[in-house]
Amino acid sequence: MKKINHAIIGAGLAGLACANRLQAAGQSVEVFEKARGAGGRLSSRHRLNTTFDLGCQQLNAATPEFSQALQLWQKKSWVASHDQQTFYGLPRMSGLTRQLSKHLTLHLSTRIVGLHKKATGWWLEDEQGQQFGPYQQVTLATPVAQALPLIANHSAGLNQQLAPAEHSPCWVAYFVLPDKLAVARSDAANNAHSSHLRRWTLLNTKPAQQENVQKWVVEASVEWSKKHQDLTSQQVAQKLFALWCNDAALTIPKPPLLLEAHRWLYAFTAQSLGVAYLQDLTKGLNVCGDYCLANHLNHPLSYQAEAAWLSGDKLGQQLTKAMQ
Ligand SMILES: Cc1cc2nc3c(=O)[nH]c(=O)nc-3n(C[C@H](O)[C@H](O)[C@H](O)COP(=O)(O)OP(=O)(O)OC[C@H]3O[C@@H](n4cnc5c(N)ncnc54)[C@H](O)[C@@H]3O)c2cc1C
Repeated sequence: MKKINHAIIGAGLAGLACANRLQAAGQSVEVFEKARGAGGRLSSRHRLNTTFDLGCQQLNAATPEFSQALQLWQKKSWVASHDQQTFYGLPRMSGLTRQLSKHLTLHLSTRIVGLHKKATGWWLEDEQGQQFGPYQQVTLATPVAQALPLIANHSAGLNQQLAPAEHSPCWVAYFVLPDKLAVARSDAANNAHSSHLRRWTLLNTKPAQQENVQKWVVEASVEWSKKHQDLTSQQVAQKLFALWCNDAALTIPKPPLLLEAHRWLYAFTAQSLGVAYLQDLTKGLNVCGDYCLANHLNHPLSYQAEAAWLSGDKLGQQLTKAMQ
């Protein structure tokens, strides 16, 4: 097999799936990630000596491919499940992406701001003006709005094909309550009643997250998130907490031990493309991510991580096949 240099921009589930396929086939792969850790929307945040899954809460499979991946990860203790239907990263969601990135060459805290095609191949430029290359193949595994500016000057074809894809935002509040307070655990998950809330999750119900305080994550609906897009995170945290208290029919006598909010600008696929990935074969440019497939899987809207993994994995297989 011919061995060539691949660059992947984005260390979310899609980018990591693609990178692992290529590396397993003996290709040379480097992954560039603007955040301090891998994971993308499977990331977790550290606060008060504990962690919060801020994005993806659970993994579910509609396809045999992803189901097999989940079984394999379960055997390796990278995920766990109470019922073999819904899986959780161990010890938190980002635990899975830490494992998936463990043997890869990762450039963290490296935001790619430009792609340059030279005689030697593709060169990537980061915010500091540092150049990386040359690569024969570049894959954009970012939300579509973050991929478009990078390929704008390089592939009219990809620009056009990507145009319909879109993500919608989601505000998330996370808070800590003393253990004895709050809602019975059986009543805890996926139980949002208000149309302003999409879902609330008691993180302690997940495997390996039992603690002596209650850790909650409340997701606002897409409509509410859009309407309140420009508020500060403090304002949003207060508002979502009040909505949650109302939903859970609770009066909390003391303020939470922690109350913060995070805005995901590109949270869920609003419009997906219906293809696993896109390629500009003449340029050596490739695109993958949840938005390629998300709304085309037989899934509720919240189950989009599978689409990300499938997209990256299938692109990795295709790039490998092309080398044979
Ligand atoms: C609040 C919330 C709840 C969710 N709940 C669920 C759920 O319960 N179940 C489910 O299946 N799915 C859920 N999802 C969706 C799921 O998390 C995503 O579909 C999936 O993680 C997307 O993976 P990805 O690799 O396509 O993109 P991402 O995870 O977004 O990865 C893209 C990566 O690219 C990086 N990047 C972007 N631009 C650059 C650049 N210029 N240079 C370098 N790096 C860059 C980003 O930092 C990011 O790490 C949820 C999402 C959110 C936000």
